[in-house]
Amino acid sequence: MKLDLVELLVVRLPLVRPFVTANGSTTERDVLLVHAIGDDGEGWGECGADTTPAYWWETVSTAGEVLPAIARGESVASHPMAHAAFEMAVLDAELRARNTSLAAQLGASRGRVMATATAGFEDDVESFLAAGYRSVKVKVTPDRPLSRISWPGEIVTQVDVNGTYAREPARVRQLDDLGLLAIEQPLATEDLSGHAALSRELRTTVCLDESVSSLDALDAAIAYRAAKAMTIKPARLGGIAAAHAAHDRCVAAGVAAKVGGLLETGIGRAAALAVAALPGFVWPADLSASDRYWREDITDPFILDANGCLAVPDGPGLGVTVHVEAIERAIVWRQRVQL
Ligand code: MG
Repeated sequence: MKLDLVELLVVRLPLVRPFVTANGSTTERDVLLVHAIGDDGEGWGECGADTTPAYWWETVSTAGEVLPAIARGESVASHPMAHAAFEMAVLDAELRARNTSLAAQLGASRGRVMATATAGFEDDVESFLAAGYRSVKVKVTPDRPLSRISWPGEIVTQVDVNGTYAREPARVRQLDDLGLLAIEQPLATEDLSGHAALSRELRTTVCLDESVSSLDALDAAIAYRAAKAMTIKPARLGGIAAAHAAHDRCVAAGVAAKVGGLLETGIGRAAALAVAALPGFVWPADLSASDRYWREDITDPFILDANGCLAVPDGPGLGVTVHVEAIERAIVWRQRVQL
């Protein structure tokens, strides 16, 4: 599709409650959106970057700086989250014009995906179980370890260490008797040999997240046998096509894979759910219902079903209805790129 105009918008959205992790506390989130308008329709994309580089080096401002050049078709090296946001908007526009859903286009095999609620340091896991989640992920650090599971054993439980056991890898063993599905990213991003050693030693599956920073990094982690499971965050890899390629590489290597989340609005969540419905993503997705984070989402909200799952949108494009008025109310920055 020939694009005429690309609008870049930053919306400021309050979270329902602060999200506190090893990377800091978040009470509101600025989200960079891409609105692509062409001769045959329009589409929306969302950038996974945060306002600060605490978790990932790209930010709302770096992505906002390079996106005009990306929209004009200029060659921009690196900046995967900016590229991913533009790719999402263009795909949404093209698939809407062809009346095809992203899930169908990708070859999704399921209409529903098991959701996961991620519990920050100040969240109560019981409240997520009461809300209907059947899969939870608890943020832990050496100072805030998890010593026992006080909820029913049929709940799928993971811990996310965010690399904070890097200086005391032996203490990761203390998490090995909890019956967890996985221990996510116990050690530093670059420490593939350390993860490989833990992966050989522990009964619990080691899952990498931060280490899966690119397709090349994924290949290296697989070659090192650094972990038996990988978190695939489409935005961090450069978008939906890259995430699809990562899925295929995990399947070929016999490595379990799940789709990771980045506090998305309904736009990014719709795309992530379509990816998460691919057959090789056998684990629950790190994606939750809209009300986990947002008082008011900027799309029709994603609601947990009775089995703790989210429906994969099957409408044209991303398959969600975007609430343009809610976006207009929340805009704090906007730039028009005329093509
Ligand atoms: Mg993680």
